[in-house]
Amino acid sequence: MALIVHKYGGTSMGSTERIRNVAKRVAKWARAGHQMVVVPSAMSGETNRLLALAKELAPSKTTDAYGRELDMLAATGEQASSALLAIALQAEGLESVSYAGWQVPIRTDSAYTKARIASIDDTRVRVELVAGKVVIVTGFQGLDELGNITTLGRGGSDTSAVAVAAAMKADECLIYTDVDGVYTTDPRVVPEARRLHTVSFEEMLEMASMGSKVLQIRSVEFAGKYKVKLRVLSSFTPWDIDINIEAASGTLITFEEDQHMEQAIISGIAFSREEAKISVLGVPDKPGIAYQILGAVADANIDVDVIIQNISRDGKTDFSFTVNRTDYAKTVDLLKDKVLPSLGAQEVVGDTKICKVSIVGIGMRSHVGVASKMFRVLSEEGINIQMISTSEIKTSVVIDEKYMELAVRALHKAFELEQVPV
Ligand code: ADP
Ligand code: ASP
Ligand code: MG
Repeated sequence: MALIVHKYGGTSMGSTERIRNVAKRVAKWARAGHQMVVVPSAMSGETNRLLALAKELAPSKTTDAYGRELDMLAATGEQASSALLAIALQAEGLESVSYAGWQVPIRTDSAYTKARIASIDDTRVRVELVAGKVVIVTGFQGLDELGNITTLGRGGSDTSAVAVAAAMKADECLIYTDVDGVYTTDPRVVPEARRLHTVSFEEMLEMASMGSKVLQIRSVEFAGKYKVKLRVLSSFTPWDIDINIEAASGTLITFEEDQHMEQAIISGIAFSREEAKISVLGVPDKPGIAYQILGAVADANIDVDVIIQNISRDGKTDFSFTVNRTDYAKTVDLLKDKVLPSLGAQEVVGDTKICKVSIVGIGMRSHVGVASKMFRVLSEEGINIQMISTSEIKTSVVIDEKYMELAVRALHKAFELEQVPV
């Protein structure tokens, strides 16, 4: 008997028929003798629907102004789907009970709409498991120190599932979704994309942080920190397929580099349309400017991604960086109001029509010329590169968003990612 955590995404929970299907699949695992904890997302479209209602009522406010209420609102999506799944399991003849994050409790900080999990008390869940029940725990949400409901950022149910698996020392965490694993890139953009049987934790971390939304980045961080056995697989296979075949399907996230069988130089391409570029122009080029600009941004809890500082001319320089698009207006306001006056800079300009395309692969450590090949492919397509950032195992470029699909397809082809590496 093993302790298994299943996570089902929004599409997988998208209708009562699909929820019934999930219940049948979970029942199969429970009847095979496993202790089951299931973490569902809200039914597809529900989180968007709820957040759009809020926007209708307060279009001009930043999320900071009413973050607490947004979390109170958005968390209901997972509460509903969890209760529905528990009902469906009971209808299948299994004992089942659902818990909201605050009931477990899953403790988080108070960063509404992007809270981080601090701890999980698994006592109640364990008691229910020992009593023979399938336990459903809502994805996406927790409880802060003040007793308020928080949510973990879009796609956060992945993180809930992996964090629960880590806290309970589960034998495995299976992320069921609407694709049958992790691909070389989003198969919706490149139909030739190939499913990876395994992907190393480090590569998955880079792919998630560079925009592959198949796993939320924090879920991968948790998996790495607590060595959670993590697999991404399809919820659309027939629920009654052989459990051993199902358990070996999809993509396994591996931790040992030598287990990485598919020795490609590049494992995948990630992209994100969710960023915006901000440039502070005419900054006096003296010690401390990066800190003055980015310190203020960090203090406002805004994540900064790609950063470049141009060489100075006549003692002045330009400083550019990217932030999440949802933080764009807030960042520009902050710079104009608080930073520009004391910095003596001339202007803040921004561009929201950008995207970031990244190639990721452990093989980049030992091979030269990978980044230059990327730049060549983009230049052959006539795509201008606005910013570049690299790490040991990835190279990212910021380009005009209208070239995103073109860039991803051209790179996928040039690096022959559709072919199994030999
Ligand atoms: P869920 O609702 O199950 O959490 P998501 O929509 O969050 O599902 O994530 C699954 C989606 O991620 C897929 O439908 C696919 O379009 C997208 N995706 C992006 N990059 C990849 C990739 N490299 N491999 C597989 N899917 C990817
Ligand atoms: N329902 C939340 C969202 O749409 C969380 C999740 O699906 O993982 O972002
Ligand atoms: Mg998701």
